[in-house]
Amino acid sequence: MKSDDSTEKSLLEKDHAYTWHHISAYNEKSPPMIWESAKGAWVTDHEGNRYLDGMSGLWSVNVGYGREEIAQAAYDQMKKLAYVPMTQSHKPAIELAEKINELLDDEYKIFYSNSGSDANEVAFKLARQYHQQNGDPSRYKFISRYRAYHGSSMGALAATGQALRKYKYEPLAPGFLHVAPPDNYRRPEGMTVEDYNRHCAEEIEQKIIWEQLETIAAVIMEPLITGGGILIPHRIYVEKVQEICKRHGVLLIIDEVICGFGRTGKAFGHQHFGIKPDIVTMAKGLTSAYLPLSVTAIRKEIYDRFDTGDDNSHFRHVNTFGGNPAACAVALKNLEIMDEEDLFDRATELGDRLLKELKCLEDHPFVGDVRGFGFLLGIELVADKEKKEPVLNGYMTKIMAECKGNGLLVGRNGDTVAGFNNVLTLCPPLSCTDEDLDFIIAVIKKVINGNTTFSQSEERL
Ligand code: PMP
Repeated sequence: MKSDDSTEKSLLEKDHAYTWHHISAYNEKSPPMIWESAKGAWVTDHEGNRYLDGMSGLWSVNVGYGREEIAQAAYDQMKKLAYVPMTQSHKPAIELAEKINELLDDEYKIFYSNSGSDANEVAFKLARQYHQQNGDPSRYKFISRYRAYHGSSMGALAATGQALRKYKYEPLAPGFLHVAPPDNYRRPEGMTVEDYNRHCAEEIEQKIIWEQLETIAAVIMEPLITGGGILIPHRIYVEKVQEICKRHGVLLIIDEVICGFGRTGKAFGHQHFGIKPDIVTMAKGLTSAYLPLSVTAIRKEIYDRFDTGDDNSHFRHVNTFGGNPAACAVALKNLEIMDEEDLFDRATELGDRLLKELKCLEDHPFVGDVRGFGFLLGIELVADKEKKEPVLNGYMTKIMAECKGNGLLVGRNGDTVAGFNNVLTLCPPLSCTDEDLDFIIAVIKKVINGNTTFSQSEERL
């Protein structure tokens, strides 16, 4: 259904006049897509064009769009009790905290906020206060990895390891250090994946030692780097990082904002590696983005160190909207749907098939690496396979535009400063049908196989 020209024009014009879009330039050249409605994995724009949302919005709509039960849960809760400050409590918040404990498979205290960035800020504050109360007040620094994304606020952005997102807003919160993450595709020649991953973990230990171990509060990492270009560590890396943290009294914060709630085939990504984080942060898939909600989960043992016996042990952090009753009710319904439809196992099934079907693209002259974990996929595009030189901007833009032209929205990730914004990413809803998956595979193959020439004069990334 096409809206008449004048409405169409005025909507876009009004958008241009009044809305400042996220990550957009002044007088952005390409107009935004105005989304009108969505169902399952498919979104419809205001002109009636349909697209399969291969990125689940911003890696978040895990159960897919248009779930009436979720809308009903929000409606019922808003009618009954729309708001409670989380200095107090309410039933959906309590039930959700219990459910998250069940999924984490250990005892954690649940602290509610609104976004992934918020959840990470809470984690940083908790870690510092924990060390203060534990007799280690000099432990204030955090170690994160280059290429990682942890949010947009001054602490979460400081933890982020992508310089282009940061340098115009500096100085950010002090005390954040970075090391290189394992990037198995680009590991030094002749080095096994195992040795390389061991080496990368040891870099964290080196950093701790060089910085004076009594100054390090925590390491923060995702189970795999998602937004930085789908960098999947070997199990050795994750196990060793945990072992190093434990040995040096450093807390381990795992950012499950993207990897949580079935995305990797388990409730949480870190569960693939058999580790027990001290703090786990989560958002996005918690409500499948139907309403804003995030959680910082603190292992009971860490929480118990806040029992100092004096009045000064309060965790002095409050936010107005965190733990909103409707958002908690939505999260509960969302998790119920995941249970009923077995979406964690479905993620594994879909992801395995996607990777298997697209792995053959590595024969293409510009496809360096196809890698996946759960229902997350990265296709790293390179201009020169020997040197692993990233493709130029024009090629990436063309591939993205052609995917869209064929009805598939895909992501593009990496790190622009390092010239590695060359990873095509897929993170579709876990509720995709077999036909949806066939469609994704067919479009990606068609577009990539249809682009086997490359102009070196194209703009650099
Ligand atoms: N951590 C990770 C791993 C993320 O991907 C994101 C968002 N993309 C965040 C934190 C920040 O979440 P939010 O945008 O909700 O603040």
